[in-house]
Amino acid sequence: MRDKTSRHLWKVFVVLLSITLLTFSTGCSWFSSADEGTAKKNTVRHEEPYLCPLCGLPVEDESLIARRPVAVKIENDPSARPQSGLGKACVVYEEITEGGITRFIAIYLCRDPDPIGPIRSARPDDIDMIYPYNALLCHCGGAPYTLSMIKSSGIADLDELGGCGAYWRFRGRRAPHNLYAGIPQLRQAGDALYPFEGEVSSPFEFMDGKEVAEIKAEREEMAVGGAPQSNVPPEGGVALIPINGVHIPYKKVCQVKYSYDPASGKFLRFIDGIQHTDYSTGEPVMVDNVIIQYIQMGSSVIKDVRGTESPSLGVIGSGRAQVLTLGTLIDANWRKDSRSTHTRYFTNDGEEIPLKPGSVWIQLLPATQNAIFE
Ligand SMILES: [Zn+2]
Repeated sequence: MRDKTSRHLWKVFVVLLSITLLTFSTGCSWFSSADEGTAKKNTVRHEEPYLCPLCGLPVEDESLIARRPVAVKIENDPSARPQSGLGKACVVYEEITEGGITRFIAIYLCRDPDPIGPIRSARPDDIDMIYPYNALLCHCGGAPYTLSMIKSSGIADLDELGGCGAYWRFRGRRAPHNLYAGIPQLRQAGDALYPFEGEVSSPFEFMDGKEVAEIKAEREEMAVGGAPQSNVPPEGGVALIPINGVHIPYKKVCQVKYSYDPASGKFLRFIDGIQHTDYSTGEPVMVDNVIIQYIQMGSSVIKDVRGTESPSLGVIGSGRAQVLTLGTLIDANWRKDSRSTHTRYFTNDGEEIPLKPGSVWIQLLPATQNAIFE
């Protein structure tokens, strides 16, 4: 539980620090005698930056966030790893598909990585997940039932099998794990087919710099004890539990571990014990926020080419969630009222949970399982 005394002490400290800084800035005569030109420049430089509505990060040019988001289906079969471009997405969903192998929906708005992939087919639940983003759905086919659902949903669809020319096969990998594209090329093909005039709505609330600093300081103050009991919700109020990492128990070859790196304030990702890196850049995939969303998985009418049934994910409705940000765990719940509304994440008191500006990875996990924290 959040320690009220330590929080109060922290606030007192912040107030004292502010008074000290104010005294310093007004007490130095040379500081206030800076010429007007410099002062003007500083004013311009400190104007409110434009923030990406999907990840909360500042962008230099407003036009970057006035575009249609691009949602790409990226596979996670062991033969597809490491993938390219996942680390540059604003939002990533990891979902279970046939046989327990997971797949990603990576949503891009403020950054345009090239290449991204390997790209694979869509699933029916993808429509419910990306619909409120007003995104261009980029994928390589899907079951006939899925494709007809995509068509009738009215979402902007850029299927590789439609022959738009924005995708290419990489000779260094065997099919079907070799379909790639660049976000600029996908965007160009999408804009020609579906000109975008809307506005991108934000699925999350983000902290400001002061709030990030407060949470960081609060985490440092709290001694990191043993693993919290992951399946026992706190008794109410906002629980801010310091954690070092989490295991997410997908099928073994897709098991995820996140490890918190206090220096960067981000989580490092591991799949089946191997650090998740980018194939093209070699850089580790670093994640700012992890949301574990517990879902009621069921069966669907869809089968893959081998006859294995695709699960139904049940992403519309409500359930339990755990929000990991800045090395802390907040027990939460989620709610998505309809296909057209974003999923929102609330504390047990019903307040929306603000996230650290940066990437958000949503781990869809069956409610019959539990993430294990350390
Ligand atoms: Zn962004």
